[in-house]
Amino acid sequence: GTSPSEKKEINGTNGQLDLEASHVLHNSLISIPPTVVSAEGSYVTFGTGRRVLDGCTGAAVAIIGHGNPEVLAAVQEQMSKVSYTHTVAFTTPVAEALANEILQGNPHGLSRAFFVSSGSEAMDSALKLARQYYVEIGQPQRTRLVSRQRAYHGNTVGALSVSSHVSRRAPFLDALVLNNVSYVSATYAYRGQLEGESEEEYSARLVQELDEQFQSVGPETVIAFVAEPVGGATAGCITAPKGYYQGVRRLCDRYGILLILDEVMCGSGRTGTYFAFEQEGPGVYPDLLTMGKGLGGGYAPMGAVLAHEKVIRGLQSGSSYFVHSHTYQAHAVGCAAALAVQKVLRRDGLVARCAAKGRWFEAALNATIGQRKYVGNIRGRGLFWGIEFVQNRATKEPFPPALRFTWKLVDEAFRRHLSIYPGAGTADGFKGDHVILAPPYNASDDEFEDLVRLLNEAYDAVETEVDLALVE
Ligand code: PMP
Repeated sequence: GTSPSEKKEINGTNGQLDLEASHVLHNSLISIPPTVVSAEGSYVTFGTGRRVLDGCTGAAVAIIGHGNPEVLAAVQEQMSKVSYTHTVAFTTPVAEALANEILQGNPHGLSRAFFVSSGSEAMDSALKLARQYYVEIGQPQRTRLVSRQRAYHGNTVGALSVSSHVSRRAPFLDALVLNNVSYVSATYAYRGQLEGESEEEYSARLVQELDEQFQSVGPETVIAFVAEPVGGATAGCITAPKGYYQGVRRLCDRYGILLILDEVMCGSGRTGTYFAFEQEGPGVYPDLLTMGKGLGGGYAPMGAVLAHEKVIRGLQSGSSYFVHSHTYQAHAVGCAAALAVQKVLRRDGLVARCAAKGRWFEAALNATIGQRKYVGNIRGRGLFWGIEFVQNRATKEPFPPALRFTWKLVDEAFRRHLSIYPGAGTADGFKGDHVILAPPYNASDDEFEDLVRLLNEAYDAVETEVDLALVE
């Protein structure tokens, strides 16, 4: 158990803040979260003085770590020139430079970037680009969207509508969630691949299911299929079986349906290539791709939609205007931060480091925590790893939601000065508890070793606690 003083420290109250004294609307309506006062490199420091290893970079955000002086200098320089200009009417050199940096060489036919301030805005913007594209090219009958189970695309109304995060949708169903969306299975081999089924067969079956879904709603009524190449917040880093995205691309081409890939969490190098979809085989490309999190690396709230030139040409054929804008789109300081992050990534070869360190990380996880009795599945790519916990490895039976396994582990890790990301688990209406690990690409070798060690120590504490709880 936690001593009262330790509890105080974990809660960050420590005599500084109590619920009545805070006028911030925190997500928890009954407690105040711990107070963060500074962050540097791979560490975050709390008001209590506690320094915590950032094993998940918040929500897979701080890809180059915290407090990078080059980013700070770039932001300061931009602020001294111009912080804000209305970017519907004007552009800035820094927004142009950021788009050039990301789209140089016209990667995979992607030719334009629309910059926003979050992943959710990026998804809403992508949905609107897709819909307006069909209006402009004379196919206004396309009104439907197809998404997947265990998908998370954001919390704004459009993005939430194509998400399947049960608990985040629940209060808003029938009121603030669009009903023109249907769902197909996630690429979730651990629970979805059948006994004796090969990876190729599993992949073909999922593509077949998507084909049947398109046909059942009428493929000529579908705007887009939306998917995360590596599923994040709701799925714990699930990857697709080989050939899946090639099959998806072929179906989209056959029916003229747009493919929207959401790389808000898995993009910006996180999986070991700059775009996660680049590992899905030749011929795979998105018509629209969303970015967020790592784009600004946490230094500024940034998101983006990258559009294929085909979409841009289609829009231009019917209109001279994209009917969507935000006051803070392509914000100059946000663009400066993101540009500096991209430059550090490129110069320091951090995407390659992410891939290399990712291989070490995968092996280290499998050799340690992967051997423990409540660990059902370890999956991911690059420096993006999910660990799913089950009561019984043989039957894959999840823990009862009341046990709150995920949260127990997050708390035990935090007590050991390690921060990990709680994925949506049984308490959110999904089978299987899980956590996500997503350290900075430039964490030191020692920090990676610490991460694995502290995670194992936290797991051991939870295993002991859970053994007792299950006996009771
Ligand atoms: N898409 C994905 C894949 C995400 O993981 C998230 C955030 N977890 C979002 C969209 C929404 O991004 P934001 O929270 O910045 O709005």
